[in-house]
Amino acid sequence: MLKKESAAATTSETVAATAFIFTIEVMEGVAIAFVFGLIWGSFLNVVIVRFDDWLSILKDRSHCPKCKAKLPWYDLVPLFSFVALRGKCRQCQKPISWQYPIVELSTAALVVAGYYLIFLLNDLALLNAVVAMIAYLAALGALIVIFFHDLYEMLVPELLSYIALGAAIIFSLAFFADWRTTLYGGLAAVVPIALLVYPTKGVWMGEGDVKIAAAIGFLVGWPAAIVFLIAAFVIGGFFGAVLMLSGQAKLKTAVPFAPFLIIGGLIALFWGTHLITWYMGILGYA
Ligand SMILES: [Zn+2]
Repeated sequence: MLKKESAAATTSETVAATAFIFTIEVMEGVAIAFVFGLIWGSFLNVVIVRFDDWLSILKDRSHCPKCKAKLPWYDLVPLFSFVALRGKCRQCQKPISWQYPIVELSTAALVVAGYYLIFLLNDLALLNAVVAMIAYLAALGALIVIFFHDLYEMLVPELLSYIALGAAIIFSLAFFADWRTTLYGGLAAVVPIALLVYPTKGVWMGEGDVKIAAAIGFLVGWPAAIVFLIAAFVIGGFFGAVLMLSGQAKLKTAVPFAPFLIIGGLIALFWGTHLITWYMGILGYA
């Protein structure tokens, strides 16, 4: 009898939660976050492409990298222009890089996820929520640019890792409102990575990866930092194995590691505590 009652309570809670998700205020918030995310992603695309020549962002109008034709504003609308042009330049018909829609769409999705995490899922004080959201946008932006910079050039720009680090600490302090969660998250992430990098003189990973690991450790806090490390190594190991088996990489081939750290970090940020609760449940601790 007792069991049945608790089951009924859970069902009505689920109904209430579902109704809450579809209120007009929440839908408006999600829509605004999505559109803002598309615009933020569109800016990040420009930073990724022109990072090494960042003054040109201020000077030059956007142009096709292949035929140099200047792009009219209606070819610069995030996502929609790519779809409308079917992925080809209006002038020279050469394909537009998939990086553009991928960055725009994933930034939009992650801004919505951040909005959900900060404003809807957790009952933060308004000031904490606003500070956490702004810092999250900055950290997310830096990490997305790092992701592609490391992928293309096997290099993590110092400036970006410091922006990620600073923004991650501010986010974490505002979001968790408990400095020990921030500090221990950062330590748990950075110590194992530093022990891998420094004794081996950066054979597998570089010094840039240490800063990114620290940033993500602070961002996700303790204990999600453990999920971050495990996820990054599982995903990195899986891709490494696939590359080696397909003959595209050897054991000594340098592989950019920042993208795996960043994917692992996002998993830990959004599902970290759930994964820990689930795993402890399997072990019989929950
Ligand atoms: Zn063109």
